Amino acid sequence: MIYRLTLLDMFRALLDLILPRVCVVCGKRLPLKREHICEACLDDLPRTYYSKMPRNPMSARLNSHILGPVAYSQATALFFYRASTGYREITKSLKYRGAHATGRFFAGMLAAELAASPLYSDVDAVVPVPLHWSRKWSRGYNQAEVIGKEIADALGATLSPDALRRRRRTRTQTRLSIEGKAANVSGAFTPGDVSGLSGKTHVLLVDDVFTTGATAGACVKTLRESLPPVTRISVATLSCVEG
Ligand SMILES: [Zn+2]
Repeated sequence: MIYRLTLLDMFRALLDLILPRVCVVCGKRLPLKREHICEACLDDLPRTYYSKMPRNPMSARLNSHILGPVAYSQATALFFYRASTGYREITKSLKYRGAHATGRFFAGMLAAELAASPLYSDVDAVVPVPLHWSRKWSRGYNQAEVIGKEIADALGATLSPDALRRRRRTRTQTRLSIEGKAANVSGAFTPGDVSGLSGKTHVLLVDDVFTTGATAGACVKTLRESLPPVTRISVATLSCVEG
């Protein structure tokens, strides 16, 4: 066994020479035993710790989109999305460069935080924010589903990737105002196959990045239509834009 591990280490070292593994944040080469992120960047990860706060700036933004007499939705993210830093590469590499292993690594960190929080440890169903089928087809995967699967596995919850459907392909949100984003996603989602949510008490909506909360808000509102009022709906994302 020891011999095999050593051989694997040697193979990996050789592979590192040909194709160096680098830190997703700073781009520096990683030592043999590290993966995805270097020690310094991990130490400096701008974590939100919102999983410990029932109300926080992210949940305030989310609930501003969910009007009506419904229960307050909790929200948390692993770290702050800052466009000026390398940390944005964590979600970008998953979304645009197919870095599934990196995505799963950080989703695992988020999952561990959720499992340790009394506010989220009772989550029994996970719903990823869907992509429009044509976008999923061209990209080959839904990044929110990659994150959602990791969280569902860690919490022992059901993954319901088809509970929501994206009715139309929304425009890229990047250049839209807050009002523009809300209008862009309003009516974009419709209930899908919600059979996996029957009898569930705490549903977690999962996405990669949380910006204005318009997308998550539209999803929570749509999920609410097919769930009894006692079912709680919360939101968790890898990163959250500050503000
Ligand atoms: Zn680094």
